[in-house]
Amino acid sequence: LKKVGVLTSGGDAPGMNAAIRSVVRSCIFYGIEPVAIHEGYKGLIDNDLEIMNARSVANIINQGGTFLKSARCQEFRTPEGRAAAYENAKAAGLDGLVVIGGDGSFTGAMLLEKEHGLPCIGVPGTIDNDIFGTDFTIGYDTALNTVVEAIDKIRDTATSHNRLFLIEVMGRDAGFIALNAGIAAGAEEILIPEDQKPIDQLMDSLENSGRAGKTSSIVVVSEGDKSGGVFELSRAVEENFPAYEVKVTVLGHIQRGGKPSCYDRVLASRLGVASVEALRDGISGVMVGVRDQKIVQTPLEEAISKHNAIDSNLLKVADIVTV
Ligand code: ATP
Repeated sequence: LKKVGVLTSGGDAPGMNAAIRSVVRSCIFYGIEPVAIHEGYKGLIDNDLEIMNARSVANIINQGGTFLKSARCQEFRTPEGRAAAYENAKAAGLDGLVVIGGDGSFTGAMLLEKEHGLPCIGVPGTIDNDIFGTDFTIGYDTALNTVVEAIDKIRDTATSHNRLFLIEVMGRDAGFIALNAGIAAGAEEILIPEDQKPIDQLMDSLENSGRAGKTSSIVVVSEGDKSGGVFELSRAVEENFPAYEVKVTVLGHIQRGGKPSCYDRVLASRLGVASVEALRDGISGVMVGVRDQKIVQTPLEEAISKHNAIDSNLLKVADIVTV
């Protein structure tokens, strides 16, 4: 193994810089030349490559986002686009590629390897934690902390008035952020797609809270929840409870930003090393992840097609503590 490329693709996540740094430094440690590719697959098609050294990744471990930039690249979805990308990879002498991103990025990596034989390794980087084959994705822990901090602040204003806050959090089709941040921030209700509750149940619960003397409430709603969205929910709650002033907060992209947490930096560092070591061992077409604290490899095909289930015990915890 002589030259390995690294790119970040899809949605950005805090800790991606730490992962790039780890890939670059692992390459140098093992005598491999690291090549950074700017703007994900777009950079591979546009031949926007840069040879890295150990100093190229200095002072980035503590920064959010990705200094290589990420992109959504339509052209890479076509066989022609992937062929153009491969030609550039071949011309640059790349004999392996590390793709830091989500399941869309892994689909692209899998196709690139199948069609052209370029060995690829996936590193899970997304705040949503919705990737099979790892207990945690890079960025998830930081996003959770951001969400909890934001909800804590909202609670201050909620409790100063008779207010009910509906707070929409990210997570795509998965409720990991909503469930965990909801428990940590002491939400009164948590709505997630994996445990879809009828809207009547939310109304009953709010009524009970009101009867118990509660004058303010926080309801965390996952963006994947299927109750019609926070604004629709807000209208329904206001109709049922005219005494409540209902406020909607969509936390949005602040969840993607910020300095990566210690956990995400360490996770990214571990997975970066594991990705280069896998290529050195002649392994490819897999995603590296952590399960029960151990590094594991999962075929990209499986990582893309399967889903992590929400821990049923955590749902029970939420039911007990959110009242
Ligand atoms: P996130 O989960 O944060 O959105 P992602 O990796 O799933 O990250 P996508 O936008 O789905 O984000 O994918 C990133 C890029 O991967 C796309 O812009 C495209 O270039 C490539 N890609 C996605 N799906 C495919 C596919 N089916 N075939 C080939 N390439 C793909």
